[in-house]
Amino acid sequence: MLRMTTPSFADRLEAYAELLVKVGVNVQPGQKLLVRAPVSAAPLVRLVSDIAYRIGSPYVEVLWSDDAVMRSRFLHGPAGSFGIIPQYRADAMNSLAAEGAASLAILADDPDALAGTEPERFAAYQKAWRPATRPYSDLAMSDRIPWCVAAAAVPEWARKVFPNVAQHEAMSALWDAIFTATRVLEADPVAAWREHDRDLARRKQALNERRYAALRFRAPGTDLRVGLADGHLWDGGGSTLLNGVGFVANMPTEEVFTAPHRERVDGVVRASMPLAYNGILIEDFSLEFKDGAVVRATAGTGQGALNAILDTDAGARRLGEVALVPASSPIAKTGLLFLETLFDENAACHIALGRGYVNCVQGAQTMTDEERLARGLNDSLAHVDFMIGSDQMDIDGELPDGSSEPVMRKGEWVG
Ligand code: ZN
Ligand code: ZN
Repeated sequence: MLRMTTPSFADRLEAYAELLVKVGVNVQPGQKLLVRAPVSAAPLVRLVSDIAYRIGSPYVEVLWSDDAVMRSRFLHGPAGSFGIIPQYRADAMNSLAAEGAASLAILADDPDALAGTEPERFAAYQKAWRPATRPYSDLAMSDRIPWCVAAAAVPEWARKVFPNVAQHEAMSALWDAIFTATRVLEADPVAAWREHDRDLARRKQALNERRYAALRFRAPGTDLRVGLADGHLWDGGGSTLLNGVGFVANMPTEEVFTAPHRERVDGVVRASMPLAYNGILIEDFSLEFKDGAVVRATAGTGQGALNAILDTDAGARRLGEVALVPASSPIAKTGLLFLETLFDENAACHIALGRGYVNCVQGAQTMTDEERLARGLNDSLAHVDFMIGSDQMDIDGELPDGSSEPVMRKGEWVG
């Protein structure tokens, strides 16, 4: 008789760490690794560094943080002190990136870490921090170093996702959800991810070849035509460094996405999941578009927060992203609202109000702002994703000649 043994939590955590090192940042022998993580994620970080050294990384630098210490600072720190930044951290990030190190960031945050603090305090900090780490972000954002953002469960986060169970149950439920979403429960997680990534690459390529002028979304409460930006490019899944080594910048990731045309969105769309925005839940909401702009917005709850998003600036009333995710994605299957964009935006087809991605329009990197707008690429200080997809959604692609063909039926890819 064959006895099956279920992998223990320790086995799964190790498989997850291996996935982050070998697929996420894809550390190569001789390559240093930078890890940024809260102290609460220490068990995962220890496994990550162990695996990196075994692969042949000569040095793993861990920059630790702590939500509670940060909260104390922004609650009680003296006026005028919030522009102080840890320069040594910025220096470490910049110099490791300049050496070509891989960079892994572990999100394990209390969603309410900054609740009750004055927003301008954290804003003052970010204003000083962003330019200090500009050399690092330039290298990461142009895919010249491999980087990956992934998550670890922490009690404060688990309690918000699973409010009705005991603390230890909430933690193990959140870990299970993270493992499900990242395919760690598959027999060979690394192989499962590589296959998933090939899938996304195929989708991306097929969509780029179709050159759709628009996508038409239909579902209960939704009939929306989203025109695509001129010269739009579909993006998603893994990225490739100049030396040909691949990495996955977000784990999980399930979406292929592109830039809508900021003036060619018409119809009505109903959100299929609530939207958590700055700690406020916006539920049961619909938007009506005309010539690209929201002309009507109604929410069952959170109307004020929804209005605040739309009033950010002129671009916040228009779309900057349209993303396709099948209803059978592992994240959708958990049925959870994670209150964390890394997960929630990968649960279903979504659109985003606000800024569009420059790399989603051919040649936009070297265009002026006016040229980008002329192609239909939206600009705003906001970028707010919300879910519109479900297993009841049909999507058609409209070809430049006006004919159309099915892209998704009942939330799943056609072909
Ligand atoms: Zn997205
Ligand atoms: Zn987005």
